[in-house]
Amino acid sequence: MKFQAIKGVRDILPPDSALWNRVEQAAREVFGTFGFAEIRLPVFEPTELFARSVGQETDIVSKEMFSFWDPFDSRLPYAIGAEEGRHRGMIIESEEEYGALALGDKFQQLSLRPEATASVVRAYIEHGMQTLPGNVKLYYMGPMFRRERPQKGRYRQFYQIGAEVLGSSDAPGIDAEVIEMLLAFFERLNLKGAILNINSIGDKNCRPAYVELLRAELQTVRDQLGADSQRRIDTNPLRVLDSKLEHEQAIIEKLPRIADHLCAECRAHYDEVKRHLALRGITYQENWRLVRGLDYYMRTTFEITAPGLGSQNAVCGGGRYDGLVELLGGPATTKGIGFAIGTDRLVLSRQESGAGEVAGGLDVYLAWFGAAAQPAAVKLARRLRDAGFVVELPAVEMKFGKSLGLADRLKARHAVILGEDELAAGVVTVKRLSDGTQQKLTEQDLFSFLRESRASD
Ligand code: AMP
Repeated sequence: MKFQAIKGVRDILPPDSALWNRVEQAAREVFGTFGFAEIRLPVFEPTELFARSVGQETDIVSKEMFSFWDPFDSRLPYAIGAEEGRHRGMIIESEEEYGALALGDKFQQLSLRPEATASVVRAYIEHGMQTLPGNVKLYYMGPMFRRERPQKGRYRQFYQIGAEVLGSSDAPGIDAEVIEMLLAFFERLNLKGAILNINSIGDKNCRPAYVELLRAELQTVRDQLGADSQRRIDTNPLRVLDSKLEHEQAIIEKLPRIADHLCAECRAHYDEVKRHLALRGITYQENWRLVRGLDYYMRTTFEITAPGLGSQNAVCGGGRYDGLVELLGGPATTKGIGFAIGTDRLVLSRQESGAGEVAGGLDVYLAWFGAAAQPAAVKLARRLRDAGFVVELPAVEMKFGKSLGLADRLKARHAVILGEDELAAGVVTVKRLSDGTQQKLTEQDLFSFLRESRASD
């Protein structure tokens, strides 16, 4: 029996994992300077949380979630099985009864999270974070799960780095600052060629009328559209604008545009977002078709595309979601805005542009020879590691040629040789593996030599 990772999930191996770490570290640093702090969230939640927030009719909720019925819910003492039930004084009479309960609606349906904004908002409400001073600024990173058709840049377990601002203000300056932070992060990573698209999709005052207008227009061209778009006329007409189908493009271009149907408040908000972006020297493209696939967005939406990714070129999506906190049972006064970066795609884009190499690696391969040298080598390895050097210490004694051959193959910068002669003389032999030069040094000189060698690398 040979096991393999299932379709759509993958292992992230060294040296790629080093690049992942660097990306995540850069996010922590940059987001930290904007006053964001990390929130760590559960990987599964009640299905209902996502159905309510992301939207029952969205692709994500209607067909992409990994869901399961949880028979061990803590509110269900009788769901623990006959033996234990008896133990607790609850006697389950028959298998049939247990079976009937298992089918009953008291079991909770859970889903692996397909995104994290819903969880952040759930946590915000659950912990009464609206009483905290100022805006609550949170970031998260971790795996998300969607049952999508896997392809390059699209996985069933993928990773997001996201951030959310929750608070009583919906000031357009917040939208612009969130975007500024995002671009500062991309800049830190030296990501070239990223393009920012923005749009406003209105709010509950103006969007419904626009959606109806759009639906009516779409009805008139229904038979020219593909099956997906036809279905979306009924379920979610805005999503038709997302279509990538070649033959639908000319039709879509003639549809009414939301920009012409925003209410005065939404129009003013959008204009202010643009002014605040300009204030920060941020360039953008307006894209009236950018509606995003999640129901909770309103007003500002944005997306960033990056080169080298083929058709899955969106590395980040986000927007404002002022009604979501209320929808999930929190205070109506709390507004929100946030984004999620697709970490897989971000890493891929960097690798495609040749910026995927991460310096690092082995400073010292500590080759020891002779039983007497081993304790000295163990102690030296510890002191080198305490000083921050990366050290490989062979666990068993090897022949000289084999040991140095391995040092080469591990791409160590230096082999530090500790044999009985060195031990007697109180020195080590240091060999620079790039050019084969070697010298004998005292331990103190070894440390400064390694430090200089690192600095000049
Ligand atoms: P969304 O949560 O759908 O707004 O997606 C935000 C970002 O997550 C996208 O721009 C992608 O970069 C990334 N993303 C979404 N779904 C996937 C997936 N199945 N595989 C890889 N990345 C994804």
